[in-house]
Amino acid sequence: MTRRTTTVAIVGAGPAGLVLAHALHRAGITVTVHERLSRAAVESAARAGVLEHRVVEYLRALGLTDRLTAEGERHGRCEITCLGENVLVDYGALSGGIRHWVYPQQLLLRDLIAAYLADGGSIAFERPVESVTVGADGRPGLNTADGPLTAEYVIGCDGAHSVVAAAFPDGADGPGRRYPYDWLTVLARISRPVEQIRYAVHADGFAGMMPRTADVGRFYLEVPAGEDPAGWGERRIRAELERRLELDGEDPALGALLETGMLRMRGKVARRMRAGRLLLAGDAAHTVTPSGAKGLNSAVADAADLAAALIAELRDGDGTGLDGTGLDGYERRRLDAAWRTQEFSEQLLDLLHLPAGLPPGQREFALRLRLERIRRIAAPGPEGAAFALAYAGAGELRLPAMWPSAQGGAVASGATGR
Ligand code: FAD
Repeated sequence: MTRRTTTVAIVGAGPAGLVLAHALHRAGITVTVHERLSRAAVESAARAGVLEHRVVEYLRALGLTDRLTAEGERHGRCEITCLGENVLVDYGALSGGIRHWVYPQQLLLRDLIAAYLADGGSIAFERPVESVTVGADGRPGLNTADGPLTAEYVIGCDGAHSVVAAAFPDGADGPGRRYPYDWLTVLARISRPVEQIRYAVHADGFAGMMPRTADVGRFYLEVPAGEDPAGWGERRIRAELERRLELDGEDPALGALLETGMLRMRGKVARRMRAGRLLLAGDAAHTVTPSGAKGLNSAVADAADLAAALIAELRDGDGTGLDGTGLDGYERRRLDAAWRTQEFSEQLLDLLHLPAGLPPGQREFALRLRLERIRRIAAPGPEGAAFALAYAGAGELRLPAMWPSAQGGAVASGATGR
């Protein structure tokens, strides 16, 4: 079999892999993308849907937001209910105008794939990477049904069970946390759009309602860790959502439940994101619970940083980066960012859930304390501003040096660079 070669081999056509492929391809670097699923499967899996400000600005600079800005919605408010009080958090105002875009992940992937193919890129769908190897010369390669492929760099954008991470000589595995609860997830038809994210902090457990499209909403219900989904029939799910979220005539009415699942709540950060010419980005290196809507956003932020660093390395031979932004610093920058994201999500989870095993008689006290925190983050001042900036994703992602920044600068700020 002929030995095939490429410059950068990307494993996985999720948000991280596709954004990285776009940026490298535009810079004239030869890229291959291998994806184990079919194109239809990638474009139909409903997952995240809340995009940070800086992610959308980055995609805009790459010319990838036409449909997103035409069909997506801007959101700058969420509400948190607790003890019968509904606290509006106007994070768009608290942050000085930084807001989210709501646009479902599967639609974003559809747009990224279409634009990449139109640009002359290609994606090998239904081509799972079976294994990743490193030759005696340090050159990595991968094996698929099409035979071996050798590359200058292999990038694992292949999600939580990464075959690239598994090939790190000393492993990439890092510390993780299993939370003492799970979230039952629901995609449901709704009578009208969800106007803003609602988090319900409730004595019987958290519930959440997130916007997705005009007639579909994403819902979450806290359940005990390890809960058997079989015990959650449709009637029980509806009743619990309506009760905990305090849905009334002003809220969207729940229609058909389109999809239900059980999210085992975990957080995890790899110890390593680089081993020589093997690198990781996105869920392959870190998984975060959906509480703060950070998973997809962190994946794109990794890809943006890695693209700029790889372009500098491969075009200019600048691995260190005079300003510390080169490939050598990628792991440190993105692990730091991953921990900042975990910390933000952990704070939010702590606010939204009561401590495990709290006796019923002590729940009101714990809820009252949470209400104080909710009022603090909703109020103008340093705490409200810090929450708002981190939540909406203020700052900028790093554009390759050769591209003019849409915002006049190119490097993610340390304070907000999740
Ligand atoms: P992924 O999107 O996981 O993409 C990895 C890609 O690699 C996949 O297409 C996979 O098929 C491919 N792949 C894997 N192994 C191989 C292989 N060996 N060879 C070739 N290809 C391979 N976040 C939220 O904020 N809100 C949500 O509601 C939410 N819901 C989610 C629901 C589910 C079921 C999941 C799994 C995640 C959810 N997330 C959510 C998280 C968010 O979707 C992820 O953080 C985001 O998709 C990460 O992007 P990624 O590119 O790093 O990885």
